[in-house]
Amino acid sequence: MSSTIRKSINNPGRNKKLSNKQLVEMIKGKSGVKDLRIISPSDVITAAWVRLKCQFGCGGYGECLVCPPFTPTPRQTRQILDDYHRAILIHFDARAKVKAIVADLEKSIFLRGAWKVFALGSGPCYFCRSCPVESGRCKYPQRARPSMEACGIDVFTTSRKAGFPIEVLQTTGQCPNYYGLILVD
Ligand code: SF4
Repeated sequence: MSSTIRKSINNPGRNKKLSNKQLVEMIKGKSGVKDLRIISPSDVITAAWVRLKCQFGCGGYGECLVCPPFTPTPRQTRQILDDYHRAILIHFDARAKVKAIVADLEKSIFLRGAWKVFALGSGPCYFCRSCPVESGRCKYPQRARPSMEACGIDVFTTSRKAGFPIEVLQTTGQCPNYYGLILVD
């Protein structure tokens, strides 16, 4: 008997598709999570202009391996999104370590049998003091994930469409809204 079949017999629950209720239960109440919605990936908006904002105006452009130009273009991201049927949009507390939380969630959801799961966070990568962009080799490939905006997702329109708050900040004293997205299956 192959090891894959043996594992299936030993863990029959692992092959059952996670329900929306189970996904919500895995995420709600986690430190840093304010709210979440299960959405259709077709409601995640990509746009060519998002890449401009990274390339012209963001000091992180080209500075880490999970930022442009190393990330999928908006067009590639659209194709990727169209491979999925369910996504989870998560609204985070302003102090939350979004990238670490979505990476942990991706792993937990994967281990529950959702083999396609992939997480996107918010902002640049903070796992290393400096990113070895010249080598092209990430030091923490299991945890480093791109932000939504780095992949050409219009976070403003996507969040508002899902009924979440997000505004252009007028001063540095204002509290930002951060979001993460988990593509499930
Ligand atoms: S984990 Fe380190 S090496 Fe990988 S993208 Fe982030 S900063 Fe770069």
